[in-house]
Amino acid sequence: MINHPITALPGIGPKLSVNYRKLGIDTVRDLLLAFPFRYEDYRTIRGIADLSPGETTTVQGSITSIRSRRSPRKKMTLTEATIEDATGTITAVWFHQPYIAKTLKVGDKVSLSGKIDDKFGLSIVNPQFETIKDSGPTQHTGRLVPIYSVSGKMAQKGRRNAVKNAMKAVDEMEEWIPENVVADYDLASIASSIAALHFPEEQESWEKAMRRMKFAELLIHQIAHVRARQHIELSKAHAIEMDLPFVKETISKLPFALTDAQRKATFAIMQDMENATPMHRLLEGDVGSGKTVVAALAAGNTAFQGFQSAYLAPTEILAVQQASGLQETLGPEVQIALLTSSYQEINGESSTRKLILEALVDGRIAIVVGTHALLSDELAIPKLALVIVDEQHRFGVEQRKKLVAGRGDIVPHFLSMTATPIPRTLAMALYGDMNISILDELPPGRGEIETVLLRPSQDKEAYGIIGEKLKQGFQAYVVCPFIDVSEGSEADSVKELKMKLSKNHLRSFSIQELHGKMKAKEKDEIMTKFRNGEIDVLVSTTVIEVGVNVPNATTIFIEGAERFGLAQLHQLRGRVRRSSDRATCFLHPTSMSGSTKERLEAMVKHDSGFMLAEIDLKLRGSGDRFGTRQSGLPEFQFASLSDHTLISQARDVAEQILDTDPELEHNKKLADELERFLSRNSPE
Ligand code: ADP
Ligand code: MG
Repeated sequence: MINHPITALPGIGPKLSVNYRKLGIDTVRDLLLAFPFRYEDYRTIRGIADLSPGETTTVQGSITSIRSRRSPRKKMTLTEATIEDATGTITAVWFHQPYIAKTLKVGDKVSLSGKIDDKFGLSIVNPQFETIKDSGPTQHTGRLVPIYSVSGKMAQKGRRNAVKNAMKAVDEMEEWIPENVVADYDLASIASSIAALHFPEEQESWEKAMRRMKFAELLIHQIAHVRARQHIELSKAHAIEMDLPFVKETISKLPFALTDAQRKATFAIMQDMENATPMHRLLEGDVGSGKTVVAALAAGNTAFQGFQSAYLAPTEILAVQQASGLQETLGPEVQIALLTSSYQEINGESSTRKLILEALVDGRIAIVVGTHALLSDELAIPKLALVIVDEQHRFGVEQRKKLVAGRGDIVPHFLSMTATPIPRTLAMALYGDMNISILDELPPGRGEIETVLLRPSQDKEAYGIIGEKLKQGFQAYVVCPFIDVSEGSEADSVKELKMKLSKNHLRSFSIQELHGKMKAKEKDEIMTKFRNGEIDVLVSTTVIEVGVNVPNATTIFIEGAERFGLAQLHQLRGRVRRSSDRATCFLHPTSMSGSTKERLEAMVKHDSGFMLAEIDLKLRGSGDRFGTRQSGLPEFQFASLSDHTLISQARDVAEQILDTDPELEHNKKLADELERFLSRNSPE
């Protein structure tokens, strides 16, 4: 059953399955492996007499009355029920959900979880609910309740029920970690770990499950990397000589002087490339540290030697931006093609896919910039000598092979760039197969960023300040955690906030929304307009998180700031760190619970991504036990920077396994898992 499509599960028909597909879930296995991104803690169950306003808790009792009515003044349907337990009664109130009065009836035993209020007498407002059956535990209330990503008509409850049903197949999940490793490292089984992560019962089993999942993903990652290293050592690359006069002249034409760190990284890369063994280098640098120009110099030198480079960006927006950045750095003589599904250009002039493919084959194009569409099979780049991958690691030797398919044993040099602040020692343990350059200084002359932590009620003040900045001709970003009105959240969505700002606070300015559900073409048009100053304010989701560079944008307002991890906030803030004008980052949390205040205050105090990464770890270590997962490491779902021990254990195990069984012939299940891992991480 594990490999059956999810339509095999009760309650999921062809229509709903489309929504699941959007989340990458096709089979029962996919569903089991798509974990909740957080849990709602409804574990405390209280007698009604003991309730106090403000707390989030669970109440269980019988319904003594229930009815729905229209509230004409508020233009909505109000459903009210009275719940009675041995200690007292409480009113449950639901807005906009008339069906509840038809679902629940007098006499039903129910379990309700939510926030206690005293506005309408003692009440519980918009609680989660379910009827209590005589057998079986509650699923949506009275426990740690998993919260999943949902899409379209899919509801949390429906998704939870689907997972529950899929759980019947969990024992079919193959244990792919070798038996002796499971025993030696005392790992929980794959089946029990999956169960514990969806429906955690107690701390201990949840922690064991987390440890297993971390170990598993680290192990498969290490196996892939150790194999990559072995493969690289056996491969040949084009040796690309560094042409010092060319490099010096290109540098001298830049509108700025390189930082020492940029200079060092540039020369390290070029030295690597002089070898006939493929380079495998990671260029790490905080947002705004100037990674692009380093990559541009390497690609420029490669072009000067008559070879080709491919530059892979994570999004179309960035591909467009980087193509024009490269052109600017290297000048119009270098032929640069932009090739994505919506863009086909050569040196800024519109072209066709066909013409670009031809020009790549005959070597006229020196640098091709694109997204993963570049990996398509029809692409042949005969003199490809350098592949640059921006802002992501999800690209390994297997994918690289695709780019050079049919070129014999020649492999391109490989440069991967990331803004994730991973300390050098840890980076070496994680990516032991790579050489590492770190840009540890920012270009001089950057204005300071002031980060302001707003109280939930202070958003209007901030909009006022943004309005002033806009009047002076600057631009602003407003970032929201959701695209559309979201169930049970107090943070505004892109749509809501855009409407609010256009009607009130910023109505005299041009405001546009931008989010991941838009077509690529549409997104790019908006970004181009924003870059050209035709749009004053961009209200967006985190699509602007990675790399976007608009120096005239000097203010960023982050709505629902508590919903973002520190690393992400730092990335977002980096969007306004690109100019020499004074920049401001407003953090607007909608609640200040738990470690939120401490985390956000760290943003105010610290400006270094490395520092923030460390603080993030410390804070997470102490609070949030069943916490939101933001591993802080790009290609990991579970493992984080603090898992030093697991990282080196996984590395040891990977090396042991591959030493005795390099082709994984005696570890069939592990080989299958590696196959799945590589195809999951490959872009198609
Ligand atoms: P990131 O490392 O985040 O990718 P970018 O490469 O986008 O950073 O560079 C950010 C901005 O800084 C760009 O506008 C770039 O032109 C500029 N820049 C890069 N290096 C320097 C430097 N040495 N001095 C001044 N500005 C620089
Ligand atoms: Mg960048």
